Amino acid sequence: MVGKDGGKSGKITEVDNANGKIMISGLNVIKKHKKPTKQGEKGQTISISRFIPISNVQLLCKGCDRPTRIGYRIDPSAGSGQEKKIRICKRCKVAV
Ligand SMILES: [Zn+2]
Repeated sequence: MVGKDGGKSGKITEVDNANGKIMISGLNVIKKHKKPTKQGEKGQTISISRFIPISNVQLLCKGCDRPTRIGYRIDPSAGSGQEKKIRICKRCKVAV
């Protein structure tokens, strides 16, 4: 991670391939105050993880056990017309 959560690591919980963003639990959390919707209910503050651009994130590679940059390669096993991108470690080429 770079930015305000620099140096932290977390588990990727959601991937938004279309927009190149991911969500990591516990990171980039915003606090949101929820107003009571019914009378007599208490307002509360909830924490929400937001999507962050994948370019802000460094993956910890399983292969070389270091933060790495992400590359892509096409999965040939998917067959023609069904090209599937795989994220790989640029250092050791292991799929991440
Ligand atoms: Zn690696």
